[in-house]
Amino acid sequence: LLIARRTLRKLPRRSRIRAQLRRMGNKGKGSDDAPVALKCDKPIILVLGSGWGAHSLIKVIDTDKFEAICVSPRNHFIFTPMLPSSAVGTVEFRSLLEPIRISNPFVTYIEAECEVLDVKRKLALCSSTFAYENGRRPQFEVAYDAVVIAIGEQTATFGVPGVMEHCYFLKEISDAVGLRRRIGQCFELAALPGTPEEDRKRALRFIVVGGGPTGVEFAGTLRDFVRGDLARKYPELMGDVEVVLLQSAQSILTQFSAGLQQRALDTFRKTGVSVRTGVRVVAITQDQARLYYRPFSQHLQGVVLEGGERLDYGVCVWSTGNAARPLVQAVAGAVPVQREALAGRNPAAAKLTVDPFLRIAGVRDAIALGDCSRLSGAPLPATAQVAGQQGAYVARMINKGYRLGTGGLDKAFPARWKEGSASEEVEYFEKPFAFLSLGLMAYVGSDQAITQLEAGKASFSLAGYLSFLLWRSVYITKQVSTRNRILILFDWVKTRVFGRDLSIY
Ligand code: FAD
Repeated sequence: LLIARRTLRKLPRRSRIRAQLRRMGNKGKGSDDAPVALKCDKPIILVLGSGWGAHSLIKVIDTDKFEAICVSPRNHFIFTPMLPSSAVGTVEFRSLLEPIRISNPFVTYIEAECEVLDVKRKLALCSSTFAYENGRRPQFEVAYDAVVIAIGEQTATFGVPGVMEHCYFLKEISDAVGLRRRIGQCFELAALPGTPEEDRKRALRFIVVGGGPTGVEFAGTLRDFVRGDLARKYPELMGDVEVVLLQSAQSILTQFSAGLQQRALDTFRKTGVSVRTGVRVVAITQDQARLYYRPFSQHLQGVVLEGGERLDYGVCVWSTGNAARPLVQAVAGAVPVQREALAGRNPAAAKLTVDPFLRIAGVRDAIALGDCSRLSGAPLPATAQVAGQQGAYVARMINKGYRLGTGGLDKAFPARWKEGSASEEVEYFEKPFAFLSLGLMAYVGSDQAITQLEAGKASFSLAGYLSFLLWRSVYITKQVSTRNRILILFDWVKTRVFGRDLSIY
C-alpha cells in the first residue's frame, strides 16, 4: 500500500521534461542549427552515465525535490564483474542488465551522449545515439543546476596498432556477445573437414592480453568452457586448444598479495592456461600478435615495427586497463586547477580531480565520481565498489538539500542549498566521502577463486573452493535487483545441469 501511495503521489509530478520531450519528438523540433533546450521549474540534476556510479545515485536520488535527468548512450546498467562469465555462456547476457528506466521510473532517461559540457554557463550539449534517415543526429541542450559526471573510462590501447580493429574488449554487453560468437566460430572453423593443421592451431589459440582481474577471470572462465563443455563436443580438437595470458609486468594480479598471485598461477598451470609475464604486445594484425619481451628498451625507443615474436591467434581479447574519455579530457583541459593537477600526465590518463566531497575542483555545482574521477590526496582504485559507494553518497548529499558550490582542494565544505536544515544534516555534510573497502576477489577457473579482505591493518586471504563459494555469494547479493538475482541463480543451475549453450547466433 505504501509503495502504491508513493507511486500515485508522484504520478502527476512526472516530469514536464518528459512531456516536453514527447512534444519535441512529435513536432520534429531541433533543427540542424539550433539544438532544443530543456528547462524545468525544479532544480535539474543532470547525471551523465548509467554505470555503477550513476546507477547507485539514480536509485537513491529524491525525485520529489529534484528533476533528475540521466543522459547516457547505454540505456541499461551492466553488472560488469560478470561480463567474462557471460562471454562464455555461464550466465546469459540479459541476466546482467537492468534497464535504467526500471532502476528508477521517476528519473528522466535520455539515450544520448554528452559531447560538450560548458561548466561556466552550466549547459550540456548532448547528441542522440541514433541518427535519422538523413544521417542527422538530433541534439539538445540541458541547462542544469548541478551535474554529476559518471561516464567511466574507455579501454586503453596505448596506441598499439591494430587493437581497435582486431581485438575483442570486455566493456560493454555487445563485446561479450561478439566474443561468444567468435569463440564458437573458431571451433566450427577448426572442425571443418580438411582444415590444415596450421589453420586449426591458429583458430584454437585464444590470447588474453592483460593480467589484471578481468583478463585473469576471462582466461579462467574460458578454460572452464573448453574443459567442461567444448571437450565433450569437439574431443578431436582438444590437443590443439591453447589459452595464453600475456602480461607486461612480472606477475599477474598485482593488486593481490604475492601468495594469492602464486595460487592463481598454480591453478592456471594445473588447468592448462599458459601465462607469459614480462611480455608486451606491440602490434596486432588480423590473425597475429607481435610480442616483445623484457627489457622493452627497443620498444621504448620507438623501434617497434620490426622483430619480436609473432603469435598466431583465433581470438585476441584486450584487457589492459582504461583511458580517459574525450569529454573528461575536454573538461580537465578547460579548467586551470584541473590542468595543474594533471600537469605532466599523458592526456589519455586524465581524470577529474575532486575534493573530499567529490566536487570537481575549480568547477561550480559539478561532481565527478567513479573511474573518471581522482580523489585529491588519496586516489582510490577504479572499481565498481568505489563508484557505487560514491553514487549513493552523492545522492544522499543532494537529497539533504545542499548547494554544492565550487569544488576546491582547500577542504571548504559545500554551501547549503537552502537555509534552515536540521543540525544533524550539517554534521552529515562535514563528513567527506569515506570509502569502505570490502576486499578484492578474482575467479581463476575450475571452481577456484582468490579473496583478499582488509580490515584496518589486518588482512585476511582465502583461496580455493571456499573462496569460490564466497565469490559467488558476494556476486549474488551484490546484484542490483531481485530479478537479476533470480536470473543469475537460474543460469548457474542451468549451466551445472545442462552445460553451456554452444549455438552461434
Ligand atoms: P562505468 O560503469 O564504466 O559507466 C560509465 C557510463 O557512462 C556508461 O553507462 C557509459 O555508457 C556512459 N557514458 C560514456 N560516455 C558518456 C557521455 N559522453 N555522456 C554520457 N554518458 C556517457 N570492479 C569491481 O569492484 N569488482 C569487480 O569484480 C570488477 N570486475 C570488472 C570486470 C570487467 C569486465 C570490467 C570491465 C570492470 C570490472 N570492474 C570491477 C570495474 C568496474 O566495472 C568499474 O570500476 C565501474 O564500472 C566504474 O563505474 P563508473 O560509474 O565510473 O563507470
